[in-house]
Amino acid sequence: MPPPPTQSLILSFEDARRAVEQHAAQAVPGAEETLDLLRAAGRVLAEPITADRDIPPFPRATRDGYAVRTADLATLPAKLRVIGEIKAGPLPGHVPSTLNRGEAFSIMTGAPVPPGPDAVVMVEYTSLQGDSVEITKSVTPGENIVAQGAEAKRGSLLLDRGTWLNEAAIALAASVGRSRLQVFVRPRVAVLTTGDEIVEVEAELGPTQIRNSNSYSLAAQIQEAGGEPVLLPIAPDEPRRLRQLIEQGLQSDLLIMTGGVSMGRYDLVEQVLAERQAEFFFTGAKIQPGRPAVFGRVPYSSCGAGALAREGASAPLSHKYFFGLPGNPVSTMVTFELFARPMLEALAGMSPRPLTFLHVRLKSEIHIKTGLKRFLPAILSGAYEESQAELVPWQGSGDIAARARANCYIVIPPDREHILAGEWVAVMLR
Ligand code: AMP
Ligand code: MG
Repeated sequence: MPPPPTQSLILSFEDARRAVEQHAAQAVPGAEETLDLLRAAGRVLAEPITADRDIPPFPRATRDGYAVRTADLATLPAKLRVIGEIKAGPLPGHVPSTLNRGEAFSIMTGAPVPPGPDAVVMVEYTSLQGDSVEITKSVTPGENIVAQGAEAKRGSLLLDRGTWLNEAAIALAASVGRSRLQVFVRPRVAVLTTGDEIVEVEAELGPTQIRNSNSYSLAAQIQEAGGEPVLLPIAPDEPRRLRQLIEQGLQSDLLIMTGGVSMGRYDLVEQVLAERQAEFFFTGAKIQPGRPAVFGRVPYSSCGAGALAREGASAPLSHKYFFGLPGNPVSTMVTFELFARPMLEALAGMSPRPLTFLHVRLKSEIHIKTGLKRFLPAILSGAYEESQAELVPWQGSGDIAARARANCYIVIPPDREHILAGEWVAVMLR
């Protein structure tokens, strides 16, 4: 019996991306665990972090110099009597609690500014003469002082659940005394490669066989995006075994397949998923590379597909999301970035973030056919504000070597045919 045909649903890039984002917003992240601060770097925070005290906890001098009353600097140069020195650390007992007219404290960066002075003059604009200091530059009230609580008030939210813990977030957690953090457990992402020609990396090769590289590029991308890759055996272009392996893949939190989603006679992934009652949100996107990318979900019960059939419609239904990415290696890499990453990040507990492109000057002109949004391997070169990008010559979306020479993608809108050198173009980094 022929398998049920799947209806084709080809979306623009933006609509396809929106479909993923909408479903990602409903994804439920998994379990949580507590980790030491340093091990939590690169993970996703599962608890809110609040300020345990005002930040800064005291008015903090931001320069080495003299703490003064700005009123005393009305005429310059001004000569003030130095009545004490304040350094970072505990306030020495002999520091007077206030300043009288014509007086100043010598003060160091990071030291608490006592009541009395209302600004700090940088040491560069002063000269010490005995126990007096001559000041040659005026300051405005508050200059070179960060007021107590100006960065955050005690109890206020510093990092929300869902924050990706980069170095700044780790520093902030450290600064409020958190040596352990509650984070989300990494979601497990099954990787299923399909194709009769595909063999494992270490296998003896026949002349027309192709080594499996997609499972490895995907695993690397999954790890980098905060997931735990689970590599399944290679599926042949044969429905029975493919069905078995898909079922195995659905035990993970997300299933990413590669290959078998094009229009060929042996591209069986969509058919097998359709038999498994899949709901397809798109079966293609108007992009290149990566046009045949598929996104959907299947009803899933942890008791297995058989249990689902027996339970009928009244049973509480949960779903597993899947992506069917095209098998051409560059297409696989691009479509992971564009579509699978936001779903994986959501399952990892991350708050959603928009996909952003940067703009740089095009180094050499591009001629391209219209109709598809292109994400073409390119090299970002130049330096600093003079950065520029140019396409890497390639043989199409199977050309892993070209992709490996690239360090970004140039993003070309579907209506552009000819882009001149020197024009601004969008690039997607990685
Ligand atoms: P498909 O999407 O199955 O039509 O495959 C498209 C192209 O990608 C074919 O040339 C495949 O041989 C190649 N391909 C598919 N899967 C992989 C893989 N896992 N590693 C490397 N190349 C692959
Ligand atoms: Mg194939």
